[in-house]
Amino acid sequence: MNKPVRVLIVDDSEEDSELLVYELERGGYNPVYLRVDTPAAMMAALNQQPWDIVLADYSIPQFSATVALALLQEKQLDIPFIIVSGSIGDETAAAAMTAGAHDYLLKAKLARLVPALERELREAQVRQEHKQALFKLEYLAFNDTLTGLPNQRSFLNSIQKRIEQSQRKLHGLFAVLFLDIDRYQIVKYSLGHLLAEQLLVAIARRLETYLNPEDILARVGTDEFALLLGDIQNPQSAQDRADQIQTALKTPFKLDGLVVSSSTSIGIVLSTIGYDQPEDFLRGADMAMHHARTQGRGGSAIFDRAMQTHAVERLQLETDLQRAIKCQQLHLNYQPIVSLTTGRVVGFEALVRWQDPQRGMVSPSEFIPMAEETGLIVSLGEWVLEEACRRLSLWQQQFPNSSPLSMSVNLSARELVQPGLIERIDELCFAFRLKAESLKLEITESILLENAEAAATILAQLKQRQIQISIDDFGTGYSSLSYLHRLPIDTLKIDRSFISCIDKQGKNLDIVKAIIPLAHSLKLDVVAEGVETEEQLLKLKALGCEYGQGYFFSPPLNDEAVVALIATMPRMEIEKKKFVTAIAAHSLRRKNSGADDFLKASDSRELRRVSSN
Ligand code: C2E
Ligand code: CA
Ligand code: CA
Repeated sequence: MNKPVRVLIVDDSEEDSELLVYELERGGYNPVYLRVDTPAAMMAALNQQPWDIVLADYSIPQFSATVALALLQEKQLDIPFIIVSGSIGDETAAAAMTAGAHDYLLKAKLARLVPALERELREAQVRQEHKQALFKLEYLAFNDTLTGLPNQRSFLNSIQKRIEQSQRKLHGLFAVLFLDIDRYQIVKYSLGHLLAEQLLVAIARRLETYLNPEDILARVGTDEFALLLGDIQNPQSAQDRADQIQTALKTPFKLDGLVVSSSTSIGIVLSTIGYDQPEDFLRGADMAMHHARTQGRGGSAIFDRAMQTHAVERLQLETDLQRAIKCQQLHLNYQPIVSLTTGRVVGFEALVRWQDPQRGMVSPSEFIPMAEETGLIVSLGEWVLEEACRRLSLWQQQFPNSSPLSMSVNLSARELVQPGLIERIDELCFAFRLKAESLKLEITESILLENAEAAATILAQLKQRQIQISIDDFGTGYSSLSYLHRLPIDTLKIDRSFISCIDKQGKNLDIVKAIIPLAHSLKLDVVAEGVETEEQLLKLKALGCEYGQGYFFSPPLNDEAVVALIATMPRMEIEKKKFVTAIAAHSLRRKNSGADDFLKASDSRELRRVSSN
C-alpha cells in the first residue's frame, strides 16, 4: 500500500508537477496534490485543507518560492518546504534557506526528492511534538488541570492587566473576590478524594454561569477560587455579586447519586484600596475571607487595612501554637463531673490549656477554632487524647479501690472524621490498659448534622468498642432532634447558657424541663454544664438531671489537685458545702493552687465566690 501524502506544488508547469508526482509514486507514495501558480491560488489552497509538504519552483512568472514562504509565515503554518528548481545558484539557494525553505533540489536530480521528503516529514513531526509539549507546558503553567480554570499565576496576570487599565483610566472600579469552600477538608474525608474533586469541578461549572464578560474566574488553591469582577458600578455591587454567588452555591450538588451541600466564605477587595501589586489584592481578599469566616461560615466581608494587622496577629498565634504543640507547652486540666444523686465525682472532662511564655494563658476558645481551621487540631487532639488516657490510667493505678472514673475528651469535627481515629483509640486503650467504656468523647450537634453519614459510621464503630459518646453544648443552634434516635449516643450535656438562669422562671427553665425527660425517654443521661450556684444545683436535681459540672463543684483542676481530690473522694457527699470546702481547701492551701490557672486569670472572682460558699 502506498503511503498517502498531501502535496502542494507551486509551479507554472503541469508537466514538471507530474514529474514530481511520478517520482513520489515511484518512491512508494500515493500523493494527493494541487498545483498553484499565483499567491491567491496558494492562499485558497492553504485555506481549503492541511498540506504535508510544499514543493515550489524557485521562480515562476507571477510567483516565487520566497513569496510562497512569506504566505506560510503569515498564516503561521509550519509545513516542510522544498525548493525544486531547474537551476539554482549557491547564492539563491542560501537566500531561500534563510527565508525558511528546508531544502532545495534540482529538477534534473529528482532521485533526491523522496529521501528529502521523508526526512522533512520526520523533522516536521518532531517539531510538531515539540510544539505540543511546549503548548501543554504553557497550559499547565497557567491553568488548573482539574477544573480547566486559570490558575493563580494566570489570575495574578489578569489582575496586573486590570490594574494597568485602571492606571490609564480605561475602566472604572473592579474588585477581587476570594472564595473558600467551608469545611472542604471534612467533605473530603467523608466523601473521599474523588467525590470531593467532583464537587470542586461542579462548583467551578456553577460559578461560570454567574460570570459577566469582563469577569475572570480562577482556582487558586485546593478549595479556593478567585474572581476578578472586571467592571463594577460601586462597592455595593461587588457585595451584591458575592451574595448572589453564595446563594447560588448553597443549592446542593448531586454527585454520583449523593446530594452534597456546601457553603462558601467570601472576601472582597475593592480597587479603591489603591494597591498596585496583584498579590496584594489576592492576599487582602484572602484575609477578608478569613475575617468573614470568624463571623460564621457562609459569610462575606470587604477588606480593610485593620484586617491586615489582625491577620498578622493570627499568623503569629498559629506559629506560636505550632511551637507550643511541639515544645509541649500545652497541658490539660480536668474538671470534675459530679453525680447529683450521690455527690460523688464520676469522671472528669479534659480541657486543654496553653501557657505561652509571652501571651500568658491563652483561652481554648481563642485557639481551638483557629486550630480547627488550620488543621493543627489534628496533632493537638492526638496529644490531648493520649495525655488524657495516660492520666486516667495513672489515677487508676494510684487509687485502685476508688470507684471507676471516666475521662471525657472534646473532639472537634475534623478530629472525628480524621482517618485512623478508631485505631488510635484502640492503641491507647491497650497501651494504658483502659476499659473503653471509661473513655467518653464529647462532640457537638453541628458535627453530627453537617457530616451525618461519616459521623454515623464512626459512632457505630466507637459504640462497638463501648466508647461513650456525649453531645456537647446540647440545645444550641439546632432544632433537629431526629439524630438522637438514630445514633448511638449515651449522654446529653446541656449547654451552660441554659443552666445560667435556670433558677429563675423563664424560657431556659422550660427548655431544660423539656430536655431532661426527652433524654430519659431515649435512655440517655444528662450532664448540666456550668452549674455555678446552689439554687441551680437544687433545681437540676429536682428535674431529675443525673450529673453536673461547673464552678459550683470545682473549676478545672491540674493533675496534682485531681489526685488530692480523688484521695478525699469517699468522704464527699452532695451537701455541697463539704464538697466545695474540700476542693477550696486544696486550692487555697497551695500557693500555686491546683484550681484552673486559666480560670484564676480570667475569673478569679468566680472562684472566690465558689470557695467561700
Ligand atoms: P466546653 O467543651 O463546653 O467546655 C466547658 C467550658 O466551660 C470550659 O471552658 C470550662 O472551663 C468552662 N466552665 C466550666 N464550668 C463552668 C462554669 O461553671 N461556668 C462557666 N461560665 N464556665 C464553666 P474552656 O476550658 O475555656 O474551654 C472552652 C472550649 O474549648 C470547650 O468548651 C471546648 O469546646 C474547647 N476545648 C477545650 N479543650 C479542648 C480540647 O482538648 N479539644 C477540643 N477539640 N476542644 C477543646
Ligand atoms: Ca466539652
Ligand atoms: Ca460544653
